[in-house]
Amino acid sequence: MSILPIYLYNHPVLKKKTEPIREMTGDLRTFIDSMFQTMHEADGIGLAANQVGASISLTVIDVSQAGDEDEDDIIMPAPLALINPVIQYYSDEEIDFEEGCLSLPHFRDKVMRPDAVQVKYFDIDMKEHTIEADGIFARVLQHEIDHLNGIYFFERLSSLRRTLSNKKLKRIVRGDISPHYSIIDADGKRIDYIPEDDE
Ligand code: ZN
Repeated sequence: MSILPIYLYNHPVLKKKTEPIREMTGDLRTFIDSMFQTMHEADGIGLAANQVGASISLTVIDVSQAGDEDEDDIIMPAPLALINPVIQYYSDEEIDFEEGCLSLPHFRDKVMRPDAVQVKYFDIDMKEHTIEADGIFARVLQHEIDHLNGIYFFERLSSLRRTLSNKKLKRIVRGDISPHYSIIDADGKRIDYIPEDDE
């Protein structure tokens, strides 16, 4: 298990549709553990395998600490690894919700998406499940499944917001960012994050 560097916009692996996983292996289980560790270390609540350079249909999600403060009686789902996830149904109701992305440092914006979804996926024992989700869990599922299909959240922005976001994308391409995790830039160059010594 290890912390992996996170691939940034505009690396080609993030625009390519990922391949389905056919079988679980020991290496893949270790990789999933590394994905959880990488996501937690970067303070993310979702991470797709292609964000750490593997073009396979796998995402990890942990919204267990991300509940709405006003609704602290809601039980959030435990951390989850989803293999070959597919959205089967979307709710008609759509909501505006702010999103961020570990591959797009310092970039947050409000995206309109369906409030609820039904998702089919396989767990780490390759057992099939169907779940229904709403709120932040549905939001992260849609964001991560988009990644597995080569889609960034900003591609879902309204045309005005998308135009306004171009500057933020250019900053990332220029490297004018300072994420608190190691990265692979658009050219494939690894830039390690060195934590400041606070002693
Ligand atoms: Zn993302």
